[in-house]
Amino acid sequence: MIAVNQLTKSFGVTSVLKGVTLNQAGGTVVSLIGPSGCGKSTFLRCINRLETPDGGTIHLEGQLVTSESGESSRADEARRQRARSRTGMVFQSFNLFPHLTVLENILEAPLRVQKRPRQEVEHEAIQLLRKVGLENRRDFYPSALSGGQQQRVAIARALATKPALLLMDEPTSALDPEMREEVLRVIRGLREEGMTMMIVTHEMELARMAADQVFFFDGGLVAESGPPETVFNAPRFERTRDFLRSLGSR
Ligand code: ADP
Ligand code: MG
Repeated sequence: MIAVNQLTKSFGVTSVLKGVTLNQAGGTVVSLIGPSGCGKSTFLRCINRLETPDGGTIHLEGQLVTSESGESSRADEARRQRARSRTGMVFQSFNLFPHLTVLENILEAPLRVQKRPRQEVEHEAIQLLRKVGLENRRDFYPSALSGGQQQRVAIARALATKPALLLMDEPTSALDPEMREEVLRVIRGLREEGMTMMIVTHEMELARMAADQVFFFDGGLVAESGPPETVFNAPRFERTRDFLRSLGSR
């Protein structure tokens, strides 16, 4: 589903990604963990081309979505569009459109970007709201919802364009425990349906629960990766152990 090879990205003189390689099969869930500032958000933003990587390649569903050297900006724009349209993004801070209702938030991209027929899109939006348990909130504005409800709407919105890959950047970090649980339940449901997801999290419960593979980022590289049982219970490297200890999980 996704193949990232030797991805690099700098901001000015700060080298954030120094050659990240990661492969993920369709229908699996990976979690990305690592110290704050190590480039996890930048990595997700490169995958959906909110950021343009400096080097390396990203293939999504077998298609290159990063620029090839020497190609026109038009060709690159087409690759960027493909990355944007085949991924969905969920942010820590929900980022719903405050002036749109729940239903309108979900309809926005399918109607205006994908230009699909309203009737079909509305029908699907209502099914998505049912999936996240919010069909009775369709006409509410985001400000009238709890954080957990807003995040569930954000997940429904991200799914409305039928992405191949759902990217989540600390989806539960802004929530208190009760709301966290309702969002975790939705993520668990998506996993059971076979949704391919890449989740950045500081929460070990989420990293363990949701992950077929865990990638530990450190110093701009994948320092360790493997199934959660191995990375959490028997990490191979000292810096992975140090990081996990700092989270208080070991
Ligand atoms: P993480 O999500 O792992 O905490 P980030 O990807 O947000 O890390 O940030 C990695 C580093 O890149 C940080 O040092 C951050 O300050 C820097 N950075 C991120 N985005 C930008 C940007 N748009 N301009 C300059 N520096 C940035
Ligand atoms: Mg981040």
